[in-house]
Amino acid sequence: MKTIGYAALTPSSPLAPFSFERRDLRTNDVAMEILYCGVCHSDLHNARNDWGGTTYPLVPGHEIVGRVTAVGGGVSRHKVGDTVAVGCLVDSCQHCDQCKRDHEQYCRNGWTGTYGTPDRITGEITRGGYSKHLVVREEFVLRIPAGLDISRVGPLLCAGITTYSPLRTWGAGPGSRVGVVGLGGLGHMAVKFAAAMGAQVTVFSRSKNKAADALELGADHVLISTHAEEMQKAASSFDLIIDTVPVKHDINPYMPLLDVDATLVLVGQVGPVAEPHTLPMIFGRRRVAGSLIGGIAQTQEMLDFCGKMKVLPEVEMIRMDQINEAFERMERSDVRYRFVVDMASLKA
Ligand code: NAP
Ligand code: ZN
Repeated sequence: MKTIGYAALTPSSPLAPFSFERRDLRTNDVAMEILYCGVCHSDLHNARNDWGGTTYPLVPGHEIVGRVTAVGGGVSRHKVGDTVAVGCLVDSCQHCDQCKRDHEQYCRNGWTGTYGTPDRITGEITRGGYSKHLVVREEFVLRIPAGLDISRVGPLLCAGITTYSPLRTWGAGPGSRVGVVGLGGLGHMAVKFAAAMGAQVTVFSRSKNKAADALELGADHVLISTHAEEMQKAASSFDLIIDTVPVKHDINPYMPLLDVDATLVLVGQVGPVAEPHTLPMIFGRRRVAGSLIGGIAQTQEMLDFCGKMKVLPEVEMIRMDQINEAFERMERSDVRYRFVVDMASLKA
């Protein structure tokens, strides 16, 4: 099937209209028309080849909401007309110990990303949600609970699960003290989820600009991360800190803020951070960890949680042809708090 989208052709060129083919339906495939796609900072990192290894042309987008237009003969979970969602994963081996534990994101044999990775069967490079149509095997297509505004669901598929997952892994709930570093797409979802789970939430932001928003999103406190005295006063007062900063930065100011046995989870920067000091780790058994998105079952759990608790991201709707401007604004942290592309704006 022929389709259209927006692609990066080189690390430095703006995204531009791009025509390509979607594969014919396999027996376990679901085809959909894409209605909305969120804009993740990872899309920008990948388009610019910040992490190395990007294959061009790159069609980004992994926060996808679509309507099913056709299903393969063996599909039982979805039917034509359903509104469905697709996140960062479109395939994995399904038989290793990690896949069996519903941790497809840690598949021993390598998971397939929604864009920019080789398809397991044909080897062709996957293309993401900045496009009109998508074909995905049914196990990786998610159900959207009734009653959620589908124009705001997209960002849950990456920003949502990436913050929901560590909150669940480290047991956030009533009585726990959770910090969130960086109030962007991921950060604002971390705040909403932690608050909905009953935790006490503190946002660390670089300036006071977003303080009022942070409180409105559900935070109990805001700390300005550049304010050394304020930071010192918060020593040993967190059980979990989720760090969403997208670039190389210094985690040392956050380590003494963890209580004994507490954990700083890095979900933002892929690559080096400033040299960490081991003293707070040794004198307090504090930990540094990382976390990658979440598995399919947990993503469905997260969507169902959002349906029950009425949790949705704050979105700014854009047209597909505004994507380059959106990338520039994201680079300046000028997003409140996630761009979503209305795919009806993408015309042949
Ligand atoms: P975003 O919307 O741009 O938000 C990042 C926030 O970090 C900004 O709003 C800003 O908050 C803060 N920040 C930005 N530059 C900073 C700097 N130089 N120093 C300190 N803080 C800074 O990005 P996002 O979409 O949330 O993504 C965040 C990162 O997570 C990206 O690197 C993305 O690739 C990564 N990611 C990881 C996973 C995973 O599975 N682990 C999944 C998705 C995305 P303040 O203005 O409040 O300081
Ligand atoms: Zn993402």
